[in-house]
Amino acid sequence: MDDPTSLLFGLDEFRVVSVTGPVADDADVRVVVETVEPVAGCPSCGVVSRQLKDRPIRRIKDLPVSGQRVELWWRVRRWVCAEPMCERRSFTERCTQIPPRSRLTTRLRRRLAESVARSNRAVFDVGTEYGVGWHTTHKALIFAAARWLPTPTPTTVLGIDETRARSVRWLREDTGWKRSDPWMTSFVDADPAGAGRLLGLVPGRSGACVAAWLEEQTQLFRDRIEVVVIDPSAPYASGIRRALPNVQIAVDHWHLVRLANQMVTDVRQRVAREQLGRRGRKADPAWAHRRAAGCRGPAQPATDGPPVHRAGHR
Ligand SMILES: [Zn+2]
Repeated sequence: MDDPTSLLFGLDEFRVVSVTGPVADDADVRVVVETVEPVAGCPSCGVVSRQLKDRPIRRIKDLPVSGQRVELWWRVRRWVCAEPMCERRSFTERCTQIPPRSRLTTRLRRRLAESVARSNRAVFDVGTEYGVGWHTTHKALIFAAARWLPTPTPTTVLGIDETRARSVRWLREDTGWKRSDPWMTSFVDADPAGAGRLLGLVPGRSGACVAAWLEEQTQLFRDRIEVVVIDPSAPYASGIRRALPNVQIAVDHWHLVRLANQMVTDVRQRVAREQLGRRGRKADPAWAHRRAAGCRGPAQPATDGPPVHRAGHR
């Protein structure tokens, strides 16, 4: 690539088609770019296509260039898959600077994360400087921070649990209002002989986020795991089965004891209604002695201990 404008713009894999200005209030110049590569391979079958389907134009947020705020447009190439046996009829070209479905360049995403992390500036303040919302900036920070954590040490017992990290917020995005996800999933070394170290933290609490984190780890890390300990969560279990089909899934002690205690309470309530025709009262023997009949973990002291449902929680 040797044209001076593209060199100056400096977006890897792209060339500048046109630059016009001045434009709207929030930008000084309008830049249209396209990828340099004139052919692309189908992501399903790998067959190289030379037949264009269409060229939609997509607005992308990017860094300012030479002190000028840029309104960036990408003329995307959508290709027809030439392989008759392939189920995918068409596909969109892929590049590292603008990942699939992203509305930001990778270099802008990285700048947002570094600006917040290195200068202790507010997320909102950094977002405003680059013309993106709080939520987008925060997401860029979380995404980068996950990669700044040290590589997790392999363990035979992996613990996974959800944490409610913040309250639900409604955030104004470029595409409209969006509900923030208040949940995070933590991965810990649950080997009883280990130090119980935190190994990773990802936003969300779905099976997909568990599978994605496991797939990012090394083959050695995945091979070492024998047991994964979770709360009784179907999405977590499905994510683990997808990424680690050979490991055993166990329910952790605290959640199991809580489930057992809940069952004993349900039975006690039902029996009280059947025998007395009313709700159980504190003075009824079944309630007065409920701690004697409850399910206890081994760490529970014999008398006046903490509430039964917390027994054995780590
Ligand atoms: Zn194909």
